[in-house]
Amino acid sequence: MSARSYPTHDVEVEGAVERGRAAARALAALTVEERVGHLTRLRHAILVRREEIIDVIQADTSKSRSDILVSEIFGALDVIRWCEDNAASALADEKVPTPLTMMGKKSFIAYEPLGTVLVISPWNYPFYQAMAPIALNLAAGNTVLYKPSEHTPLRGLIESLLEEASVAPAWVQVHYGEGDVGAALLEQGPDKVMFTGSTATGKKVMAAAAERLVPVELELGGKDAMIVFDDVTIERAVAGALWGGLTATGQSCTSVERIYVQRGIYDAFVAALADGARRIKQSTDEDGDSDIGAMITPSQIGIVAEHLADAVAAGATLRTGEEWDHTSAMIPPLVLTDVPETAQMATEETFGPILPVYPFETEAEVIERANDSVYGLTASVWSKDLDRADRVARALRVGGVSINNVMATESTPALPFGGVGLSGMGRYKGVNGLRAFTNAKSVVVDKDSDVIEANWFPYTSKKYEMFVAMMEAWFSDGPTRLPRFGVLGTRLESYAKKARR
Ligand code: NAD
Repeated sequence: MSARSYPTHDVEVEGAVERGRAAARALAALTVEERVGHLTRLRHAILVRREEIIDVIQADTSKSRSDILVSEIFGALDVIRWCEDNAASALADEKVPTPLTMMGKKSFIAYEPLGTVLVISPWNYPFYQAMAPIALNLAAGNTVLYKPSEHTPLRGLIESLLEEASVAPAWVQVHYGEGDVGAALLEQGPDKVMFTGSTATGKKVMAAAAERLVPVELELGGKDAMIVFDDVTIERAVAGALWGGLTATGQSCTSVERIYVQRGIYDAFVAALADGARRIKQSTDEDGDSDIGAMITPSQIGIVAEHLADAVAAGATLRTGEEWDHTSAMIPPLVLTDVPETAQMATEETFGPILPVYPFETEAEVIERANDSVYGLTASVWSKDLDRADRVARALRVGGVSINNVMATESTPALPFGGVGLSGMGRYKGVNGLRAFTNAKSVVVDKDSDVIEANWFPYTSKKYEMFVAMMEAWFSDGPTRLPRFGVLGTRLESYAKKARR
């Protein structure tokens, strides 16, 4: 692996929002079809240059190549393709019913660009977290100020791909640097900020955004639960737990961080999970023949070590990964049992390759325990009984649930993504998430005529009485409602035309 370097130009932070807004006029003037034409070119560039992209991501993250291919490259292409196929219909004017009381008028919603949107991203999926929000915003007609994580900047790569698609440097500015760069861009009052990162920083971003009333979209941390009932095929559920807990070496916001297994299969599940965890192949490989790579940042290694020490001191049993020295970035899969539910590992986001397993007895109990978290990003429910799985999925206080699968909601670009509680607010992706980057402008169209609306001045006592009668008819029940309304409404309208002070 030898990552390429690219010619990069440091973009001036000062005046960035102003430049973004000025450039947005040309982008907004394009049809949605023309905008997504650029995304088609971007998709082709990514497909052709995928090995080079993986080299750069691997140099910054130490992930395994297959992990990068499956989650970062495929995931980004999937969102881009979804935009290409769906943005035009999702952003088309939407006709809505106009009430009879407003007869003769037409109402519709126009989904218009916001202007320039600040996207601040974390270090765990540096390619996907760049491309997905950038693609959605370009489709919506917004220019983007993109601030990657200082830990995984992929320096030059994003611009190089966007230039190939003719969207950078004008429509997407990439601003490298630490948190202060993100803060300085936010201070300039962009038209929206989409922040993905930790809950602690998310709170600061929201506070700063409040100063300028910048709308926020916050995609924050998680402590996602996997609930396994005793009627499942253990082999599949274990394979799902291994992938859900360990992909990106557990450094995913939607990683499985709590596995609740029904008592009847608990011992068998734990044994199979530990066995599977020992078979995980871990290296920053060169040929795709490795499951997971290393941790990305030293500080995250420290958090995993702290949570592990705290759990073990409180009585947890470490079933795999005993060989880890608590400092190396190659943290092996850590299967744990008997973790007290008050331990840091049970309550705080660990963001590492941990697989703590907890036994449970009943459906009601597991719902309560899964919901007993300040976070609420995603979860998974595993059972052959789909009615039960559906019931549990609806009872969970989270933004997304996969049934008999794991992290599948975020792999579906048509589904909105986001959390509740300390996992954040707002949704991105899918129709709702694309429209989240627009101004949903309401328009009512009337024609010019001699009509004076009944609710306009002058207000007279006669009009008051007529209005009451019309209102009583309109909001009453029964078969005479509409004929009464018709007669009273027509009388009111004709009086309104003549009424004078
Ligand atoms: P972080 O909060 O430390 O940093 C995120 C980004 O914010 C970085 O680009 C950073 O430079 C910037 N930043 C820091 N201070 C800032 C400030 N005051 N103003 C503006 N920007 C500022 O997060 P991280 O450690 O990079 O990422 C890990 C976290 O991200 C985890 O908690 C994880 O769960 C979360 N995450 C969430 C999702 C999701 O979609 N919900 C996805 C991936 C990661």
